[in-house]
Amino acid sequence: MRNRLDACPGALQVHQAADGPLARVRTPGGILTEHQLRELAGCARDLGSGVIELTSRANVQVRGLRDPAEFATRIAAVGLLPSITHERVRNIVAAPSVDANLVDELDQALCARPDLAGLPGRFLFGLGATGLTPDVSIEGGQLLVDGYPIVGHPLAGHEAGTLLDAAAAFLRLRTDEWRVAELAGGPARIAAELGAGLGARLPPSPPDRPAGLVEALVPLGRLTPNQALELAGLIGQLSAVVRIAPRRTVFVPAPATGLEAAGLIGDPDSPWAGVTACAGRPGCAKALADVQADAARWVPRRHTGLPVHWAGCERQCGLPSGRVVRMVATANGYEERLQ
Ligand code: SF4
Repeated sequence: MRNRLDACPGALQVHQAADGPLARVRTPGGILTEHQLRELAGCARDLGSGVIELTSRANVQVRGLRDPAEFATRIAAVGLLPSITHERVRNIVAAPSVDANLVDELDQALCARPDLAGLPGRFLFGLGATGLTPDVSIEGGQLLVDGYPIVGHPLAGHEAGTLLDAAAAFLRLRTDEWRVAELAGGPARIAAELGAGLGARLPPSPPDRPAGLVEALVPLGRLTPNQALELAGLIGQLSAVVRIAPRRTVFVPAPATGLEAAGLIGDPDSPWAGVTACAGRPGCAKALADVQADAARWVPRRHTGLPVHWAGCERQCGLPSGRVVRMVATANGYEERLQ
């Protein structure tokens, strides 16, 4: 049994990090409008440490907040806090090819269900191929629970309702588990609750890269206010939205000229591709090094094609799945390890 509460940060329930309060703002489907991006840039500059961080679930966070209440007020004014009760459960990842209206429909339906306000802050909804294994998702017209297809449960155009029913089944079955994977026999028990059967588990589908959209890498998933404003201007010109992907990239409609000017990287073979880092110093009290700065210095002399994750201590927060070179800070400097 867990002996601690779900402390997953939100926009209101901020995390007290070593560099001050950290707010995580849910952005369902990773979707941000020009106006929202401009306000986040302003908040990061006026109230925070001057960085907007993209998370591995395509949300955003601002750290070092001097006035968390003012931050909440400002993001609420641009529609980034539509539900006080559900703000930490609006965890929806979506492939960039998924219609934004479907993401919005799911988000609104989720916020309209009082019972689902009790979902853990780590519970994840998915739409389309994102490279992740959400707790409940729809891919190729099929309901999946922790990657297991639920058979004999037709969607019949009710994707949002189906996902919410599966999430409600998890809530009925859980005691203190945060994810379906932690619930013994979870997928089969949820399938039974839905009156359906269970297929064989599927590996996560590779994330899609739809034609008509340009994907740009955000080095270490960190946007400065100026970069965010450049990006906002770019999508404003295109009357479009930006869509953050779980691998901390952004999708914008083609032609997207000006990405390089914003400090973003369009070349998929860039040495920045696949390089990730935890918070490190000064954000994390456990960190033995400023891993973000050290990773940035190292990138120009990168010597491996494998993904590389930099971690400030043995906990290795944010370690991607699969084969990853790990640069782990120790009391005696960094150790390079291969998973
Ligand atoms: S890996 Fe260690 S240093 Fe990095 S964020 Fe996690 S606890 Fe902090």
